[in-house]
Amino acid sequence: MKSYKEMNKEELELLLNTLEKEYNDILKLNLDLNMARGKPDLDQLDVSMDMLDVITSKTDLVKKMDYRNYGILDGIDEAKDMFAELLETDTDHIVVYGNSSLNIMFDQISRGYTHGYMGSTPWCKLDNIKFLCPAPGYDRHFAITERFGIELITIPMTNTGPDMDLVEQYVNNDESVKGMWCVPQYGNPTGVTYSDETVKRLAALKPAAKDFRLFWDNAYMIHHLYSDKQEHVLNIIDECEKAGNNHMYFEFTSTSKVTFPGSGVSVIATSPENKKDLLKHMTVQTIGHDKINQLRHVEYFKDVNGLKQHMMKHADILRPKFEAVLKIFDEELNGLEIGTWTNPVGGYFISFDSLEGCAKDIVKACKDAGAILTDAGATYPYGKDPKDSNIRIAPSYPNIDELVQATKLFVLCVKLVSVKKLLKYM
Ligand code: PLP
Repeated sequence: MKSYKEMNKEELELLLNTLEKEYNDILKLNLDLNMARGKPDLDQLDVSMDMLDVITSKTDLVKKMDYRNYGILDGIDEAKDMFAELLETDTDHIVVYGNSSLNIMFDQISRGYTHGYMGSTPWCKLDNIKFLCPAPGYDRHFAITERFGIELITIPMTNTGPDMDLVEQYVNNDESVKGMWCVPQYGNPTGVTYSDETVKRLAALKPAAKDFRLFWDNAYMIHHLYSDKQEHVLNIIDECEKAGNNHMYFEFTSTSKVTFPGSGVSVIATSPENKKDLLKHMTVQTIGHDKINQLRHVEYFKDVNGLKQHMMKHADILRPKFEAVLKIFDEELNGLEIGTWTNPVGGYFISFDSLEGCAKDIVKACKDAGAILTDAGATYPYGKDPKDSNIRIAPSYPNIDELVQATKLFVLCVKLVSVKKLLKYM
């Protein structure tokens, strides 16, 4: 295929005519497609339905304590054991929460803001607080810190994780940098897993702020797409402890995309001292989370092996969807020099980079033709992508026919918008 960049004006104008005709034909179809959010599809939700039969009126819910009643603030022992094994740590590092890890992240930011960590000055009493935001990244992370008026600093993502020279420069010299968002494995949306070197450099930071924390959102730690191509990230707990930064991390994960988003179980792992500090808040905030749901999850999976085997059922459903999108990208866009994209082996997203200044127009053209994508810019702090080029593709939710239709429309819009852009500068 001839690269669009090599085409002369006449060739591009001819191409534009054909593409516009194709687009107008699609407009008549009144499509209603959605590739915006990373939600499990109906088959994936069905995969966990048996879990709902695990706890019945006959189940013994009275263990060391009565799980039907108030109490057990940091989670039931069975759930703490399972998550400690998953996160390769001890139960004294673990707090099992309710249904959402994002909820814990919000709480942790809120606690830093109103009360401060382990005796540090609350951020609300300081003039300017900054958070490092590797981008492209997860819009809801950025939204939490933005909500508290924290200044968001964009850190470019590379194939091995965030640009570490820049991270070190900020964290080690600027006392107002209090934290950093990280999705260390199969990142949202890049699919990148942080290299060992990146993790070691992060763990060995020498923060100017003693209350600096890594917000280590390990949301996709077991969300592999292939049994034989699995990436793993180094254990941040061990690495921080080795580097003498015992309190520098809050690690999060949940079963939202393992069982049921909204009805899963979430967890935070951190040093026992941090745990003690956060429990001071939790004890005022709640008398305890849903222990019956915690037990339901443990009884269903039995152990971490059960959890990992279960994830292969998700992989079997998700893999063909990722492959369908990537095949269309390869067939339709390879060699045209109008976009690049990731080939993730896990997680929920494909990250697409268009020519500069095209992402917003591509997303709009898709929307006008009936396919909703994540807003252009959403993967950057403040929703502003400086190059206007990154688009997050979420292949999980539509069925395969809809996905193929949406991807073909997306590819057409990429071509259309790119040709217009190239013509503008001729
Ligand atoms: N973290 C990341 C990186 C995500 O992509 C998502 C959901 O898309 C979440 C957290 C949400 O997690 P939860 O459902 O546990 O709040």
